[in-house]
Amino acid sequence: MYDPLVDAPPGPHDAPEPSYWQQHTQADFPECVDAPEQVEFAVVGAGYTGLNAARVLAENGHSVAVFEANQLAWGCSSRNAGFVMKSTGRLGLSAWAERLGTDIAQGIAAEHQKALQLVEDNVQACPQQCQRQNGGYLKIAHRASAVAPLKQQYEQLKQFDQPVEWLTQEQLTDIIDSPQAHAALRFTDCFALNPMLLAAATARRAAAAGAQLVEHCPVTQAVSLGSKGVYLQTAKGAVRARKLLVCSNGYTSGQLLPELASRSLPVLSSIITTPPLSKEQIESIKLSPQYAVMDTRILKYYFRLLPDNRLLFGGRGAIQGKSAANPVYAKRLLQALHQTFPQLRNVNKWEHFWSGWVSVSLDDYPRVGKVKDNIYASMGYCGAGVSFTALAGQRLAEAAMEQPLPELPYYQSQLKPFPLPRFRRLGQWLYYHYGRLRD
Ligand SMILES: Cc1cc2nc3c(=O)[nH]c(=O)nc-3n(C[C@H](O)[C@H](O)[C@H](O)COP(=O)(O)OP(=O)(O)OC[C@H]3O[C@@H](n4cnc5c(N)ncnc54)[C@H](O)[C@@H]3O)c2cc1C
Repeated sequence: MYDPLVDAPPGPHDAPEPSYWQQHTQADFPECVDAPEQVEFAVVGAGYTGLNAARVLAENGHSVAVFEANQLAWGCSSRNAGFVMKSTGRLGLSAWAERLGTDIAQGIAAEHQKALQLVEDNVQACPQQCQRQNGGYLKIAHRASAVAPLKQQYEQLKQFDQPVEWLTQEQLTDIIDSPQAHAALRFTDCFALNPMLLAAATARRAAAAGAQLVEHCPVTQAVSLGSKGVYLQTAKGAVRARKLLVCSNGYTSGQLLPELASRSLPVLSSIITTPPLSKEQIESIKLSPQYAVMDTRILKYYFRLLPDNRLLFGGRGAIQGKSAANPVYAKRLLQALHQTFPQLRNVNKWEHFWSGWVSVSLDDYPRVGKVKDNIYASMGYCGAGVSFTALAGQRLAEAAMEQPLPELPYYQSQLKPFPLPRFRRLGQWLYYHYGRLRD
């Protein structure tokens, strides 16, 4: 698999990932166009971030072209688990309050709420409502000692007026039967959907607003020319633009822009799906498709029952792209699934196994804004971007249009460079060992 820390930008004809969504979704993506030679705003990457940014720019009357290395939404935006959560990065509201005070935490909560509203607009643009499932997002205490900190998080979220519910182990037994479910925090306004349908709806809105969508067209070089804008080398020729928005996120090749090269750690998240479960198997685990579930581990597992009764189960994957498709990682997920649901021990194969690159930032939260003259970027969502990208795209477009952004940490500084960036993966490997011991 393409590896951002090793390879030149992906494309132009990398195969789509063999995901469940890829194989089971009839998604209606809009027609793409030829690459223009000149455009006001050029966007790199047609995932949710790039497509939302392009739509906002087009709606504001600007000419904008999105250059996607492969087919539209080839990256995370067509292969995630479809959890629409009200968060991004890895810091909760109480962590923000401790770091920077309650006002900042409230401001961040308001941004997350806005992101949820914006993603809702994209969902509404899909005739199938992106196959949404409305039961909420459950964060489950995977062991008894995780209950107290989770309860504390619940109390703190209540103070921020978040719509959350506390489920005791007894209440939880009606929703999920697992030895690794000791209590849960339920985010009632979060939901789950089909990410591929969301990508297609977002792309259609961008195209309808006038954005030019160009696929199979990797940008291989990007140079700021000061007052003369930016020069892009693409697989389909040179392009001149006034400004460039880098929305390639976890897929950003270290070779694209030196300014971004050491500021993100691309991390693989992997998913398996089981064959469709029988009625008896589903009754034995009690899970219904309306819930999106994640646990409290350091190295988290997440799962949901899909509308066609397959269980989707995800977690961390390989460290290097060349190992991403190694079945050993699918087997590990299957083992974790068995630990979560011993009732499913007789499910001993997976039907789909796939992975994607998420961008992890050094200090656990994303940045959206200017990188250097004429160049803007949004990345570092740490694996939580399905809802946030709707807002990040908008904020990035606003920054590129030189409109002021809210005075919040996401928008006020650049991603921090990793110290000793060549050893990022060694650090990741050590962290995985630490996480495994702690969990
Ligand atoms: C397995 C998995 C499960 C996940 N589950 C969830 C979840 O349930 N909920 C959640 O909130 N988040 C989840 N995420 C994260 C979420 O999917 C991402 O945060 C989000 O999709 C990021 O969107 P994006 O547009 O920023 O980036 P992407 O969708 O990754 O798009 C980047 C695009 O840039 C293109 N590109 C790269 N380089 C170039 C170049 N040089 N020229 C042109 N194009 C280029 C790539 O081809 C790619 O299509 C998951 C991620 C993975 C991998």
